[in-house]
Amino acid sequence: MSRLDSFIQRLQAQRACLDAAAAMIADLPGPALELGLGNGRTYDHLRTLLPGRRIFVFEREVRAQPDCVPPAADLFLGDFTEQLPGAMARMGEPAALVHADIGTGDKAASLALARSIAGAVVDLMRPGAVLLSDQPFEDPRLHTAPLPDGVAAGRYHLSIAT
Ligand code: SAM
Repeated sequence: MSRLDSFIQRLQAQRACLDAAAAMIADLPGPALELGLGNGRTYDHLRTLLPGRRIFVFEREVRAQPDCVPPAADLFLGDFTEQLPGAMARMGEPAALVHADIGTGDKAASLALARSIAGAVVDLMRPGAVLLSDQPFEDPRLHTAPLPDGVAAGRYHLSIAT
């Protein structure tokens, strides 16, 4: 598979998982969390999927398209490891959905980052909340959910908080 094919498949998997996760939480209250704003592509897609639901964004450096920058009140600016632990005070209620798109080209560093924040992420989720992520997240309070049709195992990750 070429790098172009792989890139396209990754984005298709990401969109399929975002669409599936949004449907899974249709009856669950609470905000959504976006970890990794990047240029704002997936934040923008989540806004479209979840109209009326507040989306809090965690990002250390805002470089998104101007129309994809969240309101200041919904942005946790700084390193995930510093921003996640106290976030519930501003959120006010646990999240129904978390999307963590945190990877860089350094696979080992991306896995280590997911390991280091998994507990703090799950602390912010209500029972039944969905976590979808580009990296595997492991926590005893998470159980793996089936991926949407057409998404190859390991390309994206979907789990539910108990
Ligand atoms: N979802 C985005 C999109 O669709 O445009 C792409 C996100 S990009 C793959 C990952 C983002 O995570 C980068 O913007 C990076 O700055 C942010 N990031 C990575 N590690 C971080 C950390 N430890 N704390 C805060 N932000 C971090």
